[in-house]
Order: sequence, then C-alpha cells, then structure tokens
Amino acid sequence: MDFDDRLAPYAAHSAQGRGRQFAEAPAGSRSEFQRDRDRIIHSTAFRRLEYKTQVFLNHEGDLFRTRLTHSIEVAQIGRTLARSLQLNEDLVEAIALAHDLGHTPFGHVGQDVLNDCMRQHGGFEHNLQSLRVVDSLEEHYGAFDGLNLMFETREGILKHCSAANARGLGELGKRFLERSQPSLEAQLTNLADEIAYNNHDIDDGLRSGLITMAQMEEVDLFARHRRAVELAYPGLPGRRALYETSRRMITVMTADVVATSAERIAEAAPRSIDDVRASAPLIRFSDAMRVDTSALKRFLHANLYRHYQVNRMRVKASRIVGDLFDAFMKDPVLLPPDYQDNSGELTKQARKISDYIAGMTDRYAIREHRRIFSIDEL
Ligand code: MG
Repeated sequence: MDFDDRLAPYAAHSAQGRGRQFAEAPAGSRSEFQRDRDRIIHSTAFRRLEYKTQVFLNHEGDLFRTRLTHSIEVAQIGRTLARSLQLNEDLVEAIALAHDLGHTPFGHVGQDVLNDCMRQHGGFEHNLQSLRVVDSLEEHYGAFDGLNLMFETREGILKHCSAANARGLGELGKRFLERSQPSLEAQLTNLADEIAYNNHDIDDGLRSGLITMAQMEEVDLFARHRRAVELAYPGLPGRRALYETSRRMITVMTADVVATSAERIAEAAPRSIDDVRASAPLIRFSDAMRVDTSALKRFLHANLYRHYQVNRMRVKASRIVGDLFDAFMKDPVLLPPDYQDNSGELTKQARKISDYIAGMTDRYAIREHRRIFSIDEL
C-alpha cells in the first residue's frame, strides 16, 4: 500500500524510512508514521501532558494551555504546513505530539533545577528526556522497552543536543556533530511550535490579566492585525477582537513559512531526504517575519514570562523540584521501589530520581512534596 503517493520526492516517505531499533512487521492499514503517532497517543507520558504547565500552572485556571493542548495546537499548525508543502503530515503529527513528552512539571524552571541537581551525573535536558521517554521509559510492549519508534520520528523529537550527549546517541546524534539537518518534517515542526506558543501565550497572558490589550499594541505585528480587525469589525468586544486578531496572525505566519520555504526548497532543489539532510535549513520564516516574531518574543519575555507573579510561581516550583531531588538522593528509601537503584552507583540512582521527578505532573509534584515534608500528610 502506498501511503505517500502525494508527497514530494524530498519528503520523509514511510516506506523508505530508516526503520525501528527492533524490526516489526508492517502495520497493514497504517503507515509507519501513523503507527508512531498512535503509539504516542496511547503512551502514559502523553496523558501526563494534560497536567503539566505550559506557562501557567495547571491549577491556576481551566482555560490556560497545558502541555497537552499546546502539543495538539503544534500538531494542527504542523499538519497545515506539511500539507501545503507536500511533506509527510503523519510524521509531523507524531513529532508534534511527542515533542514535549520529556518536560518536567512546572515548565522550564523544572528542567533548569533538575539540570543543576544532575550536574555531577550527566545533567538533564527536556529534549533528550523526550527521547528517553519514547526510547526506554514507556512500559507498553512485551518485546521492548519504550515505543520502538521510527528513526525519523526520533530524529524530529531530538531538536537540539549537546555534542557530549550526541556522542552517546549513535546514528541519531550524528547530525549534531556533523552539523547536517534533520528531515523537512522535523524542521517544520519546530516552526509550528514557535507559531503555536507565540500566539497562545498572548491569549493566556491576556486571560490571566498579567498583560493587557493596550500593552500588546507595543508589538508591531499584533498592532497591525488588531487595527485590521477594528476596520473590518468596528467596536468588536474584547475576546472576539483578540481571537480575530490571533487567527489572522497564525494565518500570516503559516503562509509566510510556506512561501519562504517553498522558495528555498525550489532553489536548493533537493531530490531526496538525503539531499535535505546535506543542505542548509530549508524551512524558515522570511527575514521580515523573523523581525516581527522576535519583537513579539521579546515582549512576552519581558512582560509575561518575567512578570513578578509568574516569578513567584517559578521560585516556588524550583523549591519543590530541588527539595524532592535532595530528599530522594539523601534517602533513596523514600522512593517507590521501581525507582530505587540497588547497584550502589550514585549516578544510576540520580538518573532514576530525575526520571521519577521529570515524569511527575504539577499537582503530583506538589502532593509528593507535601507527603515528604509535611507531618500532616501521608
Ligand atoms: Mg513546545
């Protein structure tokens, strides 16, 4: 069965993929990348995304993005880009749904603290952890640990990687040492991620009241679209005006990536995915859009991600993660038996503790902290 008959020759074709670590018979009715996507959706780590922070903590409000809804938005934008460029939609969807599986509770601060804690033991990086989840931590199949995903899916999940870590990853790490590129599907998912969070963080920021519509006018890209909405629908009330603005922003960003990338692909004229890997990055924003999105990012950074109320949560969260790590390292007997390491090697025990903590949802980490440190909690 040819699943990829409408794809460009330089797309990632399922039948020509580099395969899985453990060979498996074809799935019949599904392509290999559809199968990967399905495995990701059925994984435990995927369900945990529902209770993990994107920017706002999960319990701060029911309508804020979580890692789960963020990942679904990335997949949606990614699929649109993929179809417009005749790239493999199934692979993009699989990468998008898996790209944040390795995130700790409480967003980036969790990773930073865990990385500090793990300094003597190889460090912690959420991107590498996503790969670790699909390669070994998921316990779903009789024949192997992890999800046994296709090379191309794993390549897309591993967005960045230090040279030191890349050396331990064999084929998958090679491109970070040789500075070659991943598939166009992987490149495209990175931009879909950026388009998704730049837009949904505006919505969440406004909803939280930490930033205002008036402040947003400082951002050129936003102000331009906001004015166009006002012209088309004078006096449109708050939330509808915002959504009308943000859907336009997503549309122009997506169209920009498609037009710019199509041009670059035409210039480079790759004939296969191998040509793609050997060429410069081909999926990108135009220079003008890059200027606009950088300004938007700077704004969100200064006014939302570093807002004092977000800082308070960040500091509290870092204390929770740090306390848990220290307590478990000092007394591994506090750990559930699966996470106790009996080899006597400190580094192995530390890695198990970081796997345990990274796997926690926000509320689980908060509860676990209480269970360990509060005399009133069992
Ligand atoms: Mg993301």
